[in-house]
Amino acid sequence: MAVSYKPQLSYSDFRDLKDQIQFQSTEGKIWFGEQRMLLMNLSSLAAFRREIVNSMGIERAKGFFLRLGYLSGLKDAELARKLRPHCGELDIFLAGPQLHSLKGMVKVVPLEIDLDQETGDFYGRFEWIDSWEVEICKTELGLMKEPACWVLLGYACAYTSSFMGREIIFREVSCRGCGDEKCVIEGKPAEQWKDGKEFSRYFKADPIIEELYDLQEQLNSLRSSFQRQEGQYYGIGQSASYNKVCRMIDKAAQGKVSVLLLGETGVGKEVIARSVHLRSARADGPFIAVNCAAIPPDLIEAELFGVEKGAYTGANQSREGRFERANGGTIFLDEVVELTPRAQATLLRVLQESELERVGDNRTRKVNVRVIAATNESLEQAVEDGRFRADLFYRLNVFPVRIPPLRERLEDLPLLAGHFLEKFHAQYEKRTLGLSDKALALCMNYQWPGNIRELENVIERGVILTDNNESISQDALFVSPPPSEPMPIERIDADGNVCIGQAAGKEESWSDHIINSGISLEEVEETLMRQAMEQANQNVSGAARILGLTRPALAYRLKKTGILAEN
Ligand SMILES: [Zn+2]
Repeated sequence: MAVSYKPQLSYSDFRDLKDQIQFQSTEGKIWFGEQRMLLMNLSSLAAFRREIVNSMGIERAKGFFLRLGYLSGLKDAELARKLRPHCGELDIFLAGPQLHSLKGMVKVVPLEIDLDQETGDFYGRFEWIDSWEVEICKTELGLMKEPACWVLLGYACAYTSSFMGREIIFREVSCRGCGDEKCVIEGKPAEQWKDGKEFSRYFKADPIIEELYDLQEQLNSLRSSFQRQEGQYYGIGQSASYNKVCRMIDKAAQGKVSVLLLGETGVGKEVIARSVHLRSARADGPFIAVNCAAIPPDLIEAELFGVEKGAYTGANQSREGRFERANGGTIFLDEVVELTPRAQATLLRVLQESELERVGDNRTRKVNVRVIAATNESLEQAVEDGRFRADLFYRLNVFPVRIPPLRERLEDLPLLAGHFLEKFHAQYEKRTLGLSDKALALCMNYQWPGNIRELENVIERGVILTDNNESISQDALFVSPPPSEPMPIERIDADGNVCIGQAAGKEESWSDHIINSGISLEEVEETLMRQAMEQANQNVSGAARILGLTRPALAYRLKKTGILAEN
């Protein structure tokens, strides 16, 4: 169904969009939906643009600014779909031009729109009035030889392409930035432009940039394989507390000393254990990880130390244990407190004598294995409770390393999130736009009781729930928003004024507010009636209309509460 230009919403009514703006001045943030925004002055942007043009040349600069607009258009197409789910396609589409106006970029006047999402047909002509890019041409850059509204054009192309689900290209057929009378743009599917292919090349990063990225990628992969060889591989982080752990590992890695990793569940103990191994002289040897809690107690000895044929019913053949498999390398015993007393005794012997006997065997075997143990409960306590051997504890506790919980190294969260995004993009063959600014802010405010593992799960959920080319919203990350301190938020009211409101997401409804404040129903009724009377200049009929009551019904209530008698 082709739609001619007949929107249901009034084009000048974009309160739903305005409501998305929130000022969080005390936090230094401005939000637009889930996107963090900036209020920037035009003149500094003009100076920046001049510098880019001067240093890169017009063609390359044009590409930069087209792509700047392009990214913003993608984000806004996403927002429009979310905000107007029940509207007709034209009303949803018009959120784009309206957003352009709302953001102070340009006033957009639709001249002709013909669109049909089903067939993919699109034709649009718009006039741009007071484009910011024309303004900086007039004030800073001087007139251009060709159309100058680059960022605006990139936005229009991305917004419409995302909206239509196919490549739509807009061109400025005339532009005041190059001396024409008006800025007018025309948009249609890429194939319908003679030079559509050439033009859409602007939206791909410059070949030089791509080449640089390629080189950088090669360098990175070389570096990381080099680092692996050198045993420099640590995992991810740059915070002070994480660096401290890394320095400890550096020290521990040399030599054969047992290492005890302490920390809450999910902090990445296995990653650290592996990096101790990779940084040690045993890096070429095997690294065997065992979760002691995952093996049934009656099998743990055989699993760790091996078993001889006929040792017990079911032991049909001899088998080496994990310690023998780790010979020459490192074994990582997670949740070591779960070891049975007999397994603890054998482990102590391995640590003291470097030898073991398989279950049901009397031959002694030499093993050369470094032990890294980990626990998320206190081993001292387990010793006190009689669940863990004191002598084994002292053996394991030679070099304890405490790994900080994620909440103590939140500055590493963006890096970690980026790492998991890459992982799940590959795994699910998807490419989201990453966390929305708001989702990231929420993550940075959350306590992460499940630590990095919880973050990994949350990111996986986000990637699954988010479509390609959309940002991962707070709703996709968290089933219910995690508790955090409510922050004062200023909103834009219907008249465009900034006013104080509640933090989004934790917004207390007016009814909650009334109930929590202990205000009675009578007080509510009375206050509403007084307010209505005031607004109606004490005219009972007028106040009744405001409250949706008949005049007699209101008059009765006014008398009953004594409001009318007062006047
Ligand atoms: Zn223009």
